[in-house]
This record gives sequence, structure tokens and C-alpha cells, in this order.
Amino acid sequence: MRQLKLPSGNAMPVFGIGTWRMGEQHERRQAEVDVIREALDLGITLIDSAEMYGEGGAEEVIGEAIRGRREGLFLVSKFYPHHASRAGVIEACERSLRRMECDYIDLYLLHWRGAIPLSQTFEALHELQRDGRIRDFGVSNFDIDDLRTIAPADQARLGCNQIFYNLAHREVEWEVADWCRQHGTPLMAYSPLDQGGALLHSSVLAAVGARHSASAAQIALAWLLHQPDTVVIPKSANPKRIAENLAALDIRLSADDLTELDSAFAAPARAVRLQMR
Ligand code: NDP
Repeated sequence: MRQLKLPSGNAMPVFGIGTWRMGEQHERRQAEVDVIREALDLGITLIDSAEMYGEGGAEEVIGEAIRGRREGLFLVSKFYPHHASRAGVIEACERSLRRMECDYIDLYLLHWRGAIPLSQTFEALHELQRDGRIRDFGVSNFDIDDLRTIAPADQARLGCNQIFYNLAHREVEWEVADWCRQHGTPLMAYSPLDQGGALLHSSVLAAVGARHSASAAQIALAWLLHQPDTVVIPKSANPKRIAENLAALDIRLSADDLTELDSAFAAPARAVRLQMR
């Protein structure tokens, strides 16, 4: 699996799985544990979660799925903005660690910008990193103004900005992506399949896919993986689709493919706000 280097020097895989909507219903729990285990069996090591998903339920599903096989995994989790005070971040992290039954989180993110001053949040993140409870920290849903309010020393240490990014939603390309590249901050593209919506029925994706014997979902992921320093975290409850999505790593889009995709799904031509799902 291709890896990106974080500012800390740690490595992060470019492909992972999402867990939003997991851990919400007891009846689905075993199936969710099984699907994560099957993803690990396929060689996927990055798992994205958040204390918000199933109000801790998704992290519990992960804890059960990874029991006895934590080594070599790259766990990402996120805390609520209303837990972003100095004490709040540390308590939220301890709860996430307990639920995932592990000693550290690889990358711990502020889920979106809230009202608590960022200086408090970053102090707590430094403490967690010093104590070894997190390896790296970063942000999510940070638009350009939010990024600029981070202290310069922390701007240079961000493990990622996890943002809404797919072919049908390229708002991040207006300013945020350039800022992140200039600061060495990887982008982590969430909802990379636009949540399984109309994007996957696009005739352009089907036509490009036909040239690679690939599905629309694979082309959507291959396009994101073609962007510099970008990680994708598609979610699927279906092991066959997870394998299909993973195979997007092997697709090399040609210059003609990229031109066709660009003209069907244009990058923003004027200022746009980052969107959030
Ligand atoms: P995705 O873009 O990953 O799409 C998921 C949907 O696509 C599901 O309905 C899934 O259905 C379907 N799907 C997956 N693979 C295929 C395929 N090969 N062919 C057809 N359909 C497919 O949406 P998410 O919003 O779940 O985003 C992924 C992850 O990003 C989340 O799970 C979460 O971890 C993270 N996220 C972060 C946010 C943030 O604010 N930081 C916000 C939103 C998401 P099925 O399960 O039936 O296969």
C-alpha cells in the first residue's frame, strides 16, 4: 500500500475505510465487526471513525474487530468541537481509547471548528502526543479562514485536514488544497463516492471506466488518488465492494481520462465555501 509521510515523519496509508453509520444498531453489530475484519484481511490498515459515529458505537465495533491485531493499523478518530477544551479533548480521547481497546490513536482530529479557542485544543493535543496517547493530530472540515487561525507552529504539524472531496464536490480546490500542500498537510477525502449518490451513475465515469474495465466507483477513487498527497476513506458495508474500491489503487488514469473528467466535473472557477456532510 502506498503511504504518505506526515510532518511528524510517521507514515499514513493512502487508502482506508470509513465507519460513519456503524455502531448505531445492536442487530447490525456482528455484521459490522465482520466487515471490518474482512477489510483488514484484504490488507486495509487505515480505519476512520469519530466519537460522534453511533455516539461511540462505531469505535466499539472497531475495538471488537481489531482485538488482537492492533499492530500495523492506522486508527483515525475525531472529537466533537464541544469537547475541544483542554480537559475536554483529553477526556474524549480517553473514552475513545477505551472503546477501541487500544493504547494510542494514530491520528486524532477536531471534527469541525467550534467556539472553543484553538489554543486550548492544541495544548491538549500536544499533551496527548507527548504522553503517547496519540501519534499525530489534525483537523477536519477546516476552510481557509479556519486554517489561517491555527498558530503557525501547529500549522506545520497537522497530520491532515479531513474534508468533503469527490469529483462532484471540488470546493476544496479553490484555496484549501493549495494551503494544505504548501504546509505539508495531507488531504483526507471523506465521502469520496459522494455517499453512493448520482456520481456513481455518471455516464462519463462509466465511459472512462470502460477503458479500464473498472466501475464508476473505482474511477471516482482513482481520480482522488491521482491528486497529490490525498487519502481516500470510502465506506461500504459490503466486503465485495470494499475489495472493488481497494482495487482502484491499481488504476492509472491517462491524460485523456483526466481531461474528460475535468470537463464533466469542473474545478471551481470562483470563490466557494467548503461544504460539509
Ligand atoms: P462514501 O462516499 O464513502 O459512500 C458510501 C456509500 O457508497 C454507501 O452507501 C455505500 O453503500 C456506497 N458504496 C461504497 N462502495 C461502493 C461501490 N463500490 N459501488 C457502489 N456503491 C458503493 O460516503 P461516507 O459519507 O460514508 O464517507 C466515507 C467516510 O468518511 C465515512 O464513513 C466517515 O468515516 C468519513 N466522513 C467524515 C466526515 C467528517 O465530517 N469528517 C463526514 C462524512 C464522512 P454500501 O455500504 O451498501 O456498500
